[in-house]
Amino acid sequence: MINLVILSSLIFFLFITFPFLFKRKIIGRHARTDHLTGLPNRRILEQFIQARTTPLNLPIAVVMIDIDNFNWINEKYGYENGNALIIEFSQRLFFSAPAHSLTARLEGNKFALAIPGTHSRREIQRMLSEQFLSLQNFFHVFGEPVSLTFSAGVALAPEDGSDCHTLLLRAERALRHVKHHGKNNIALYHSSFHRLDLERQLAMSFQSALQNGEFYLCYQPKFNLIEHSIDSAEALIRWNSPVHGNVSPAVFIPAAEKNGFIFELTKWILEEACRQMKQWNQSGHPIKRVAVNISAPLFLSDSLPEMISKILHDYQLPAHQLELEITETAIIEHFDKALHVIHLLKKDGISISLDDFGTGVSSLTYLKKLPIDTLKIDKSFIDGVHTSFEDKALVEMIIQLAKLFKLSVVAEGVEKKEQMSVLKKLGCDSVQGYLISRPEHPDVLNTLYTQKKHGS
Ligand code: C2E
Ligand code: MG
Ligand code: MG
Repeated sequence: MINLVILSSLIFFLFITFPFLFKRKIIGRHARTDHLTGLPNRRILEQFIQARTTPLNLPIAVVMIDIDNFNWINEKYGYENGNALIIEFSQRLFFSAPAHSLTARLEGNKFALAIPGTHSRREIQRMLSEQFLSLQNFFHVFGEPVSLTFSAGVALAPEDGSDCHTLLLRAERALRHVKHHGKNNIALYHSSFHRLDLERQLAMSFQSALQNGEFYLCYQPKFNLIEHSIDSAEALIRWNSPVHGNVSPAVFIPAAEKNGFIFELTKWILEEACRQMKQWNQSGHPIKRVAVNISAPLFLSDSLPEMISKILHDYQLPAHQLELEITETAIIEHFDKALHVIHLLKKDGISISLDDFGTGVSSLTYLKKLPIDTLKIDKSFIDGVHTSFEDKALVEMIIQLAKLFKLSVVAEGVEKKEQMSVLKKLGCDSVQGYLISRPEHPDVLNTLYTQKKHGS
């Protein structure tokens, strides 16, 4: 009986370890194994992928796996125990990997799987989830049970890349995505991940861009339909970067908001807009008010009114010549705080416009509570105001609503004469858009004004 137990234990031991040892031996012959685990290293992995992608173009899934918070293990139990755990993990990974796949250790606690064959995104996700579940039994360090979680990023050939280099980069990018979004998950590569990379690259250039004078303001006139003249302009920031080219504010403003640079940038925008307004005053230009877009985070600090009153004082500009454009989505989350800041600004005599009106919640309660002066109807409603019955009805309703609350109304993104004539009939006060002028450098607006003044 005892002999039988010993014999079956021996068979079991050989059964479990033999393939692993065998594989280790073969690969070891080529001296390309990872010294700690005996698994293939990065070079073998690359050759395995390359043999299928170039030039055969065969489908393959490349998976990068990382043990979450592994530094905690090293810190708590020391490197030797950390290494023992890595060996145990590598064995579990190896034995749970799909047939015909290759398991490799890349470095530290980072591993990779290359799984040949066609797999849909859903299939690969399910397959890996099941595999990871099987890996999650307790590991033992110093006899203590330790539970681990894993993050993984996946790139599929040919859809995510047709060569080894791209596939590894994209699997790595997907892994980083998981790491930044709470770990313990599997992400399949998606092109949108690069937007985050770009945001980070832009954020790193902000400070030097401001110092090197790469930002400048363009101004888009607002045409008063009642007076039949241009009376104000909106300042719109532009960034001409030697590294990134011309970057749209729709891209870099959110990045500046996320990394805290928006405070410094808005201060510069306000100063520059006020300096320009002062110059227009001195030259007798018809633009009598300048509007500056203000991002959400600035409404969460009391320092905005203080900063603005100092700038107005420095440029000797009356407060009624400055208008701030805010979006409802920007203030809704911290409404009471924003309301407090808006009240302070209003007390100083600054006008407030609600930008992109109609795209957010457009709540009547907020409209009633907010001490604003102007509603700017979003371009998306203006696009069809001359062709669509529904758009016209909506715009009419917004204009009536504005009149009820004693607010003036500006239509954004007016591109056609037909749109402007409908808006005039509906009682809209002002229009802004390419029909009147694109956002222009102040020199261009000055030249236009001078030409008009001299009748040319
Ligand atoms: P916004 O404040 O709603 O500005 C209107 C946007 O529509 C501007 O784009 C303008 O160039 C564009 N536009 C104006 N008229 C027309 C038209 O007739 N047709 C079309 N297709 N587009 C028109 P821009 O300059 O790219 O700015 C985009 C957004 O970036 C702005 O939307 C604003 O939210 C933000 N932004 C721009 N400058 C600043 C700034 O100085 N500070 C802050 N915080 N945000 C800014
Ligand atoms: Mg605006
Ligand atoms: Mg707008």
